[in-house]
Amino acid sequence: AYRKGGYHAVRIGDPFSGGRYIAQRKLGWGQFSTVWLAYDTRTSNYVALKIQKSAQQFAQAALHEIEFLSAAADGDLANAKCVVRLIDHFKHAGPNGQHLCMVLEFLGDSLLRLIRYNRYKGLKLDKVREICRCILTGLDYLHRELGMIHSDLKPENILLCSTIDPAKDPVRSGLTPLLEKPEGNANGGGGVSTMNLIEKKLKRRAKRAVAKISERRSSMVGTLGEEASSKTERSLDGIDMRCKVVDFGNACWADKQFAEEIQTRQYRAPEVVLKSGYSFSVDMWSFGCTAFELVTGDMLFAPKEGNGYGEDEDHLALMMELLGKMPRKIAIGGARSKDYFDRHGDLKRIRRLKYWPLDRLLIDRYKLPEAEAKEFAEFLSPILEFAPEKRPTAQQCLEHPWMNVSTQNNADNVGSQMRNLQIKG
Ligand code: ADP
Ligand code: MG
Repeated sequence: AYRKGGYHAVRIGDPFSGGRYIAQRKLGWGQFSTVWLAYDTRTSNYVALKIQKSAQQFAQAALHEIEFLSAAADGDLANAKCVVRLIDHFKHAGPNGQHLCMVLEFLGDSLLRLIRYNRYKGLKLDKVREICRCILTGLDYLHRELGMIHSDLKPENILLCSTIDPAKDPVRSGLTPLLEKPEGNANGGGGVSTMNLIEKKLKRRAKRAVAKISERRSSMVGTLGEEASSKTERSLDGIDMRCKVVDFGNACWADKQFAEEIQTRQYRAPEVVLKSGYSFSVDMWSFGCTAFELVTGDMLFAPKEGNGYGEDEDHLALMMELLGKMPRKIAIGGARSKDYFDRHGDLKRIRRLKYWPLDRLLIDRYKLPEAEAKEFAEFLSPILEFAPEKRPTAQQCLEHPWMNVSTQNNADNVGSQMRNLQIKG
């Protein structure tokens, strides 16, 4: 993919935007981009540099993402709404064409890596709560204040806030600091010759550092420390669970939508599968799937195409096995309903469903204590309502008793808070 119209090849030490940013290490990549840790010589901070593929359609997608990230940054001057901050953007000319580049605040590992790091065992409920609070804060902001739908919420697109300064803690972050601060003034005043000198020096240093870095290639950046090969238990004690929502490449305005098919398969809401139209509540569905995955380590729905039926129909069957039969009106109300449902609201090709409700699943398969399972199921079930308008908003979820337990795993506490709420209500 490193060809015309494709990715831009980056070497460690490469300068961007007139020398302001210096590439340090690859952080990740997506379909359209590679993401690099870079050093911002103007602010002496580390940043994430997202470099888009150059072809016209990718540039268009980057402009789209910049529009949504800018709107999110403009409405959140204090940078407290759990959405990744866009710091800068510019064009970079390379051998494969012009690449739009986004400069984002540097964040840590994704929740997907967190789940993997924890060996798919599921996180403690107090950790899950901290993470949920951040995601819901982000969604509440996007939905209520901006009128924006994220449309691709999933563990991969939620990043932990890095508590590690890559310059100060190179071992834990898997980084060798390539630059303390570039000598001289790389930005301005230096003129061409100084610039070249600095570049040469950088490249020499970079070469030396590459060997060291590749030794640690498997280590995780920013949050979780070294990826150990041993089978020892891993503790997440002391790791701050603050996180932020990233990847606005698929975002849309509630009143100006672009695509009918949105979201990543496993996190896709039923109204999207059935093409019945959608709104903010599709993000709430994805949030529910994500919360379940954090608690159990397993995806809530992992549909597969089977003998005589497709992925969509399997997906609908899995939903109904967990949540009960879809109300007939909803089942037959979408543009795609006729492909999957008969006029009674039963699936055409998957006839026998094994009902396994959420609280029993949490107790029987995932061995959650009964009280904890019931409380979590009480929080999650309304979010996984088939009727989109019945799902609680992010704001309502933030106010739910399950989100507001002060002592960890204290069942009595939730019980009494719920009773209080009923009395008040
Ligand atoms: P795409 O739209 O191509 O999927 P993303 O924005 O999801 O791109 O970024 C791809 C990957 O790059 C992420 O999964 C993550 O590993 C890494 N990444 C993205 N943004 C940041 C950031 N701000 N800080 C650290 N890593 C990031
Ligand atoms: Mg992504």
